[in-house]
Amino acid sequence: MNAVLLIPSFQNFTRMTIYLDYNSTTPVDPHVLETMLPYFSTRFGNASSKTHSFGWVAEQAVTDARQQVAKLIGAEDSEIIFTSGATEAINLAMKGVFEAYSGKGKHIITSATEHKAVLDTCAHLEKSGARITILPVQPDGLIDPSELTSAITDQTILVSIMYANNETGVIQNIRELSAITHAKGSIFMSDSTQACGKIRVNTDEDGIDLLALSAHKIYGPKGCGALFVRRKNPRVKLIAQIDGGGHEKGLRSGTLNVPGIVGFGKACELAHERMWEDNIHISKLRSTLEQGLIDLGNISVNGNTRNRLPNTSNLAFTGIKASTLMKHLPDIAFASGSACTSALAEPSHVLRAMQISEDVAYSSVRFSIGRHNTTDEINICIEKIREFISKEI
Ligand SMILES: *Cc1c(COP(=O)(O)O)cnc(C)c1O
Repeated sequence: MNAVLLIPSFQNFTRMTIYLDYNSTTPVDPHVLETMLPYFSTRFGNASSKTHSFGWVAEQAVTDARQQVAKLIGAEDSEIIFTSGATEAINLAMKGVFEAYSGKGKHIITSATEHKAVLDTCAHLEKSGARITILPVQPDGLIDPSELTSAITDQTILVSIMYANNETGVIQNIRELSAITHAKGSIFMSDSTQACGKIRVNTDEDGIDLLALSAHKIYGPKGCGALFVRRKNPRVKLIAQIDGGGHEKGLRSGTLNVPGIVGFGKACELAHERMWEDNIHISKLRSTLEQGLIDLGNISVNGNTRNRLPNTSNLAFTGIKASTLMKHLPDIAFASGSACTSALAEPSHVLRAMQISEDVAYSSVRFSIGRHNTTDEINICIEKIREFISKEI
């Protein structure tokens, strides 16, 4: 089958249901897919095969992709470690730092609204002897930097604060938090999975020493991500969590996912080139959506609306359960609470940390807009919700 045929069929699929869940995952951009395809077939070589051209071609492709990923976050190529995604990058960073620095101290600080990949890794490390402090957030989702100042000690080896929240889009004051961390000589890590590709992220300007990102949140393939590991001022040491052939400077063994890495690189390049253009389009759609819905009454925005990703809208529908809304809007794909919570839905830990009542949390939904959404789709979404609400009342 001609693989290019996959592209129109993907468009037909997305036309049936309106997809407003881009923070959960994104479709692979057609340009990204096209760049990846040869690396499944003719250019299938192992990037570690040094003895023939199949290996050299794959190795060159990985080198180019590493440069594209590094450029998106203002890093050096040599500071990028490819992983299977942000979850693995976070595990490598936190467990790797703990093992490398536990002689210096065993204290790790994070925040209450982090992704489960961070919170569950902290819970794991706590069983291995780490002392974990979870900073609270204010009702708007922002961390009060003075909370970090009071929590940090000489024993603190790592502070891990997400750049932007996946549920609310709230963007933390990363520069201030990293400065407080560095003043104590600790390492500053940021799960930047939602920020990368959506807003400007620069590891030097932002003072980030370890940064996790993922391809499938930025129109790249699933199963591919990276960890940025600062090499100077300070040089961060890590203990590998996957041992084997010594790939990725010994920090992540295993044959490289060359097609995935090539797609990830292309996705980073596109995100970098299109960020401004994408954001004009996306923020216009978001304000249309929010204004349209807020005009219906009894709907309010959760989280700080100034320090927020341009694509995310977390809304509380007073008096209507998110699950009810979802059941009546089967042709709109959006999220309630966290995408990870299953049938036995618990209220979102992010909204609860913002002191939002359980009731309001159960009535909250997340719309996250992407590159491929149109004004028509947003208007249809508003109209369908309007119809549903007018029947309810
Ligand atoms: C999606 C996401 C992750 C996990 O990324 P994977 O690549 O799917 O493992 C981690 N943190 C945040 C904020 C995310 O949005």
